[in-house]
Amino acid sequence: MNVLIAEDDDISRVLLEGILKIEGFTVITSCDGAEAWEKYKDNNISIALLDWMMPRMDGVELCQHIRDAESSDDRYTYILMVTAKNTAEDIVEAMTIGADDYIKKPFDKYELLARVQAGRRILESKQKLKESEEKYRTLIENSMDLIMVFDLDGDILLINDAGANILGEKPDYFIGKSIFGIYPEKAAIFEDRMDQIITSGVGNDFEDVITLPSGERWFWVSLHPVKEKNGNIFAIQAISHDMTERKQVEKRELKIKDTAIQTSINPIIMADVEGKLTYANTSFLEKWRYNSVDEVIGLPIAEFFKTERDVEVLLAALSEKGSWLGELTAKRKGGLDLDVQLSASMVKDDEGSPIRMMFSFIDITLRKQAWEAVIKSEERYKALTEDSADGIFATNKDGLFTYINPVLEDMCGIKSAYTLGTHFGKHFSTEASKQLEWIFCDLKDGKNIKTLEFNVIREDGSSIPIEINAAPVIKDGEFDGMECSLRDITNRKKLENDLKESYERLQVAYEELKELDQMKTDFVSVVTHELRTPLAIIRNNLEMFLDGTFGDLNELQEESMGMIFNNIERLIKLVQNSLDMSRIYGDRLKLKFEQVKIKEIFEKVVSGMKLIAEDKEHKLTLEVLGDIPVIECDEDRITQVLTNLLHNAIKFTPNGGKIGVTLQRDEEEGVILAKVSDNGIGIPEDEQENIFKQFYEVDSYLHHESGTGLGLSIVKGIVESHGGKIWVESTPEVGSTFSFTIPEVKNE
Ligand code: ADP
Repeated sequence: MNVLIAEDDDISRVLLEGILKIEGFTVITSCDGAEAWEKYKDNNISIALLDWMMPRMDGVELCQHIRDAESSDDRYTYILMVTAKNTAEDIVEAMTIGADDYIKKPFDKYELLARVQAGRRILESKQKLKESEEKYRTLIENSMDLIMVFDLDGDILLINDAGANILGEKPDYFIGKSIFGIYPEKAAIFEDRMDQIITSGVGNDFEDVITLPSGERWFWVSLHPVKEKNGNIFAIQAISHDMTERKQVEKRELKIKDTAIQTSINPIIMADVEGKLTYANTSFLEKWRYNSVDEVIGLPIAEFFKTERDVEVLLAALSEKGSWLGELTAKRKGGLDLDVQLSASMVKDDEGSPIRMMFSFIDITLRKQAWEAVIKSEERYKALTEDSADGIFATNKDGLFTYINPVLEDMCGIKSAYTLGTHFGKHFSTEASKQLEWIFCDLKDGKNIKTLEFNVIREDGSSIPIEINAAPVIKDGEFDGMECSLRDITNRKKLENDLKESYERLQVAYEELKELDQMKTDFVSVVTHELRTPLAIIRNNLEMFLDGTFGDLNELQEESMGMIFNNIERLIKLVQNSLDMSRIYGDRLKLKFEQVKIKEIFEKVVSGMKLIAEDKEHKLTLEVLGDIPVIECDEDRITQVLTNLLHNAIKFTPNGGKIGVTLQRDEEEGVILAKVSDNGIGIPEDEQENIFKQFYEVDSYLHHESGTGLGLSIVKGIVESHGGKIWVESTPEVGSTFSFTIPEVKNE
């Protein structure tokens, strides 16, 4: 801080300079008033110590100059007069010309310092005041808001440029005028607000719209009391913020929100505090099946819910907590139910008083159905797995158990309480674990798993055979774990083993029987072969006895010999049949194939049988249809077949029957087809397939004749040996037709 010393007395000047320098001041000295005036002009002097009496220009004149200069350049110098004068008039004079203080000569050093410091403090606080005044002014001047100060009569004391501009005039237009006069329509509001401020001592805010030449503008007005030091209110400051733009944005926002609600996919309604509907959006009207909003406005909201209880709970929650969220059943027009999720809230005004209730719905019918289906299927799945006879477990994609059914717990001793969340590989025996690991990896790689069997070692060390089925758990198309069912196949394995064992036993028994059968066939073959020759000799001799070669026989002898002859004949036939049978079954039937005129054979056999047929008064005919080619066959055996069939026909047809033989060529099949028909006793259907078996005779009271039961099986053997087929069509008491075929060309 610069201090100017104007003093013509050298000692005093040096003394003053010394004292002030020590205190940290920058000291500028001068020996007279004129020099001091020059130095004042050149330097930024804050404090001046002026000697009253000086040559060229005294302190009073200098003080005058300084004060004059200050008024033009906005400076202030604290002037301390140093004088030897000490009358009251002198002091008054000094102060009148503009000095701030004075000190009498000779001066005390401390008094001098105290007065200089006081000057400095005054200067500093003046400076601060100036700065804050400037700040305030800048604030007002730079503010975009309208700032106005008016006295308690409403006369405008101050208005900033921006404010005047907003109101469409220059500031001067407003100064001194009454706000009640300028805006008479606002007079009531201002008067009311001013009264409030005067009585309460505090300001207040309000929103208002003013019509200006530029149009309607919204203002946020904030009124504050301006007080004197003693607290008396002497004016009111009004800061008005133009919020027209914001209002427009708000209005637009409101419109957007309104459109959003109106077009929301969710049904939305509002009700007043009484619970009467005041608003419903399009979605609500559609969902609740109303045609227009007029149908619903004013209806109590209870109209839209199924149960009164729900409405009570809802309203209670809204008034207590201000909101409610949950699911309930709504009621639509015509009493139709609708499952909804409801979000309800109480809308309150700025003071916190409820003004509206708002309800926003979501139709959850589908979600509920889907959820119920999920629960059902989960329950079903759970029931299936829990009740399953198989052990079942599931893992996540890392192989950690997520489910173990009670059967598996028993089967393998894996307790779900301790093992869920642990890796499956830890809980099976080594071999089983290895197999399961492979399965897990294959499933992970997307491979199909066939059913596998392996043994699982139980807790007690016993081993059980297991059949395992595994399937991947797929989630969003990705492998998400595996599901395995393990079946204890102990019983099945045992059955399989038993079956295998009994099959093996049967195989052995079969082989033994086959061997025995072969032995029997061989035995029959040997016996019959051995019997044939002696029987033939006996018959020949008997024939000779009977035809009188050995002399005449008396009647009794002839009768007895005849009986013996018939029985020997039967015996020979049996032996012959047995021999044929054993050949057929022992694959030893040797056929003598040669070119044979089959038609001639048939004619020969039929004419040969005529006598026997006539014995029973049968009519025996042969019919040859078309040309019959010469075929390759064993003539004797085919003769045997036809003879046998004719014998049967004669035998099983009551006297006076009709027996017919037909012979034809089936060109398509390449065979000769022969048929032997009778109108005899016939064969029951269930017996028809048995008659071709060995030793089979139909057990019927109609059978008078007894045979060997070998004939047809030999016939079949011969026909089949030729590559042909034989079959019968028969109706009891109507008759039978035996058909057989012989290939025209011998099958190799
Ligand atoms: P059998 O020596 O008893 O005649 P077959 O093998 O020749 O033995 O015949 C078997 C059985 O078939 C006969 O016992 C008879 O019951 C029945 N059978 C065969 N041919 C005829 C037929 N033409 N009419 C009715 N039954 C017949």
